[in-house]
Amino acid sequence: MLDFKTIEELSKENPAVGSKTLEKILSKALNLEPLSLEEITILLNIDKAEELELLRDTADKIKRKIFGKRIVLFAPLYLSNECVNKCLYCGFQNGNPEEKRKTLTKEEALKEAKFLVSRGFKRALLVLAENKSKCGLEYIKSVVREIYKETGMRILHINSAPMEVYELKELKREGLGVFQVFQETYHKETYEKLHVKGRKADFNYRLTCMDRAITAGFKDVGIGCLLGLYDYRFDVLATISHARYLKESYGTYPHTISVPRFRYAKGAVVEKPLYAVDDFTFKKIVAVYRLAVPTAGIVISTREPAYLRDEILYYGASQISAESKTSPGGYTDILEEEKGAQFSLNDKRSLEEVVISILERGFLPSFCTACYGKGRVGEHFHRLAEEEVIKDFCEKNAISTFLEYLSDIKDKSLREKITRFYEKLIDDKSTNTEKGALI
Ligand code: SAM
Repeated sequence: MLDFKTIEELSKENPAVGSKTLEKILSKALNLEPLSLEEITILLNIDKAEELELLRDTADKIKRKIFGKRIVLFAPLYLSNECVNKCLYCGFQNGNPEEKRKTLTKEEALKEAKFLVSRGFKRALLVLAENKSKCGLEYIKSVVREIYKETGMRILHINSAPMEVYELKELKREGLGVFQVFQETYHKETYEKLHVKGRKADFNYRLTCMDRAITAGFKDVGIGCLLGLYDYRFDVLATISHARYLKESYGTYPHTISVPRFRYAKGAVVEKPLYAVDDFTFKKIVAVYRLAVPTAGIVISTREPAYLRDEILYYGASQISAESKTSPGGYTDILEEEKGAQFSLNDKRSLEEVVISILERGFLPSFCTACYGKGRVGEHFHRLAEEEVIKDFCEKNAISTFLEYLSDIKDKSLREKITRFYEKLIDDKSTNTEKGALI
């Protein structure tokens, strides 16, 4: 399925970057031509600030070409931390005495979803531990059904354990958007050392979960590796190879590639990253993903600090979470927030602060969920993106959903403050894209 031998060999190479070669690779990427794994390896070996700047500018241009200047906003909604697995780096790991365990009841899940909607979110990512008896298929189905029925949440995505095709079919029928699972590390030996108990210990079962999800009817899937577990060159090359394998096998790239980076989790056996990834490398990785899989959403969470999340918008990131809590019940119950978190958060800004910060940087916060409703998913989405058409939808819909968000803000002075930032962006012609400018 993935050529691990080649990935391993390339990850150990140290090719010279060279300005001519770099220029050639960047201009190829800008034309949306697929880069070879060798070319991607060269980009991953960038170690000078000037080279990173060139990479950043290319990633930014590609993102604007495809999505315009919109940045999608979402919030995670943690349903359960009662996990049967033992992932040595995770706060949810089975046997962690520091973790207060909880699975939200349907009513509690609804309360959290209603809170997020009241804050302005239209999309949420359900996140849950693996535990068939506490939060199995029937539980997830009933929670999803209830949230759609009782709240204004327009799309729910899910980050859960891998499942069987028949289970995924049932889930899809409930109207979920993206099915997301991170491989954590694609390095089998390291994977097996870090996942010592539960079904997650099976490397191949996890690796093949997107094949099952797509077979079950999920046209949009989300992949990623957890940076800090193994050599980033290996894991990034493998993530990109995984994306290409899905395209070759099923005709579609993953809808999203997430870029989670290791954070300290209270009570975890592994407290520090085994292969630390610094900020320079993190930025490089985000940009490389944008060049290698241009039409994918690149997702950055609140694992990253505010200053970096602001900066990363220029490196090709296209979706960010905001105001996140990583414990079940964390939005509406302060006690839960403190005791049941999965890992420590790094950006605690409110949604309004994140929105202002996006506008200040010349980007447009988007609460749009139209593609899922209109069937612009899977292969169809990526084709429209490659044809540079999707950005026309993205920008117009970002504006209409942003105006809706603004009008829902009850605090008049806050609404006026954000409106001023928005109008400044609209008036600033220099931030307009060449085609499909703000309408
Ligand atoms: N049960 C699901 C599964 O099997 O993947 C959900 C897992 S977890 C709640 C969601 C993601 O958080 C994991 O896939 C992992 O990449 C990430 N994660 C776990 N521990 C972390 C840590 N210490 N720092 C940063 N991210 C972490």
